[in-house]
Amino acid sequence: MQVPEPFETAVMFWAGRDPAETIAELTELGIRSGQLGLPGDLDLACAPLWRNALRIAGFRVFTVFAAFTGESYADIPTVQRTVGFVPPATRAERESRMCAASDFAAEIGAPGIATHIGFVPESTEDPDYSPVLEMVRRVSDHAAGHNQTFALETGQEPAHVLMAFLSDVNRPNLGINFDPANMILYGTGDPIEALGILGPRVLSVHCKDGDWPDQAIPGALGVERPLGAGSVDIARFLAKLKEIGYKGPLAIEREASDPVRRMNDIRAASELLAVLKPAVTA
Ligand code: MG
Repeated sequence: MQVPEPFETAVMFWAGRDPAETIAELTELGIRSGQLGLPGDLDLACAPLWRNALRIAGFRVFTVFAAFTGESYADIPTVQRTVGFVPPATRAERESRMCAASDFAAEIGAPGIATHIGFVPESTEDPDYSPVLEMVRRVSDHAAGHNQTFALETGQEPAHVLMAFLSDVNRPNLGINFDPANMILYGTGDPIEALGILGPRVLSVHCKDGDWPDQAIPGALGVERPLGAGSVDIARFLAKLKEIGYKGPLAIEREASDPVRRMNDIRAASELLAVLKPAVTA
């Protein structure tokens, strides 16, 4: 599969509707590549439909993102309880779903998979640390069988915790999908500083923006914003990506629930990147 150009504007989008219509909305914005999210309840037998629609449109999917049924991002304690590989009760079913997502990625020709694994425990003594580590190792190995990378979405733990975890898992195809807004939304730390630490493990990035949580509300998440309207400082983010030698695509991610608002914000984000990119890529 053709490798995207450095800093190519891409998009994070979700399966669930007609593949050809979904892709047409994105190509209409001038976007030719992206990351395809699979909702937890999606029947993955739709892979051949996606493969055909992508081929006809000349659209490249470079990452297949898996979400799981039962996840909720309502606030930080709910995320800790429901998201990713951390909740013990759903570990087995989510491991098999993650491997199925890897098989789906292989069917559509995507070279990588990704997911939020949830909050990595800060202590290696935590009872969840080893089981989650072993699970990430098995999924990495499954992905390696398809020559795929496996990226962990960032933001829910400090950079040094994630770096130590990646090193403990010790798999060459394992890395991160760096999301600068998540670091802010979860109040984890300055994303640009974190990017300096995590740089060698960055496989792909989200261009997403947001504001810090309200300190007066314990456990609250910050608020996602249209790109350029939040606290990330997108020009500084791009400059740091250039500094660490990142050459991959820039996947715009907008989580607004209203579909019209979401597409309008993606269009505006693409226009913003077109203005900001020449300064850093020159
Ligand atoms: Mg993200």
